[in-house]
Parts: sequence; structure tokens; C-alpha cells
Amino acid sequence: MSETYLDELLKPLIKTAWQLKLSKSKSAQAATDSSKFGGLPYAESGDAWPSCPTCKNQLNFVAQLKHPTEKSLHTFFYCFDCFPWGSSKDETGQWLVRSYSAANMTNYAAIAPALPNQYQMAACNCTEHPVQVLPDYYDLGKVSPLADSLCEKIDDENSYDIYQAAVIRSGCLEDYATLIGGYPKWIQGESTKSCEICNSEMEFFAQLDSEDEADLMWGDCGAVYLFRCPQHKNEFALELQCY
Ligand SMILES: [Zn+2]
Ligand SMILES: [Zn+2]
Repeated sequence: MSETYLDELLKPLIKTAWQLKLSKSKSAQAATDSSKFGGLPYAESGDAWPSCPTCKNQLNFVAQLKHPTEKSLHTFFYCFDCFPWGSSKDETGQWLVRSYSAANMTNYAAIAPALPNQYQMAACNCTEHPVQVLPDYYDLGKVSPLADSLCEKIDDENSYDIYQAAVIRSGCLEDYATLIGGYPKWIQGESTKSCEICNSEMEFFAQLDSEDEADLMWGDCGAVYLFRCPQHKNEFALELQCY
């Protein structure tokens, strides 16, 4: 009975996210205007290959994400030497997101790293699959205090398992994945970011999981979470978590 009520409470929280599935391919080495990992990034005239302000090495191009509804494209670069975790102590520029509102290969202007990337990745094409997602258990108290306390009421000692069982009943994704949109699935617990310009709380934008297919590993099977300001669509924040 209580579980049925829990399912009812969770139903309106379900969001659609897009899961990126990677496949290694030589063709992914070349620049495109769609989602991909590794290889060469999309860029436009005026862009240069970014370098790290701390160690002065060039940043690695990790991935570019095409937002399935906004149609914007976001290229993501990261310094694997400085390995920023997203704390306020990180020097700005150790990672970078560049956004293009209307990326199109007719506007493409090539950029290439001066040296081979230090962190070798396998270039991968991506396909986007809509999936239903529910908040991580860590965020449930914030999103629905009622559902959170109900999990505890059902089984005080195993409230996490109660919630996970409800996620499975709902047909939502329960595993870690590379996602655009939806909710973050935390490894080390919830984190919020605020915009440096307007101080408003940022929205979850994407999660980049460790991806074997791309030879991409964030620490010990970690993940990178990207947040974006709802007002300032070019303002991003990063969080890296691992085991
Ligand atoms: Zn660096
Ligand atoms: Zn802002």
C-alpha cells in the first residue's frame, strides 16, 4: 500500500533524458556537428585550441554534446594533468565548455592540438536514446520531502533499497550512464553549483560517465557532471566524483 503511494509520488518527478551510447570508429576522428567523444572537436572561426592556465599544457578535447531539443552543441575540454574536481580552488580554464547555438559544418573552422593529446582516447560516435529518469536518492529530500520520508517510513534501515526498488518499478534508468538532461546520478553525494555572474543555482546539464569504449576513465570509475546557469546559457560548472 505504501509502496503504491510512493510510486504515485514519484510519477510526476520522472524526466526524459538522453543517454549517449558510444561506438568506437575511425570516422569519429574527424570533426562533426553531432555528439561524439575524442578525435577532433567542432570549432568555428576565431576559436583556438585551449591551453591550461596552470600547467600551460594544451587541454584535451574529451567530448562534444549536441543537445537533442535545443540543438546547441557544446565542446568539452579538460586538463588531465591538473585534474580539476570542480572545487572553488580550481583555476578557471583548467576545463572549458564552448557552446555553439547553431553548429553546422558549413560554419566549421578546424582547430588541432599542437602536440598529440597526452590523454589518449579512442574516438567514438554517439547515438542518443531517450530514457526516463528519477532523481538520485541523495537528491530526493530536496525534490520531494514527502517521498523521501515515505521511504524511511516504509523501512527505516533500508530506505535506499526501498527507493531503488521504486525506481526499477517505474521503468526508469537505474544505472550510471552518460546523459544529457534529466538528473545527476551521484557517486559521492549531492552537490549544487551557483552561477558566478548571477549567483542563481545552476541546472544539471549533462553527466559524462567513465566510458570504456572511448578509453575514458575519470579517476577510479568516476563521472563528470556539468551544470549550466538557467539565465546565462554559456556559464557552466563542473563536478568530478569517483570512488
Ligand atoms: Zn593543467
Ligand atoms: Zn547566471
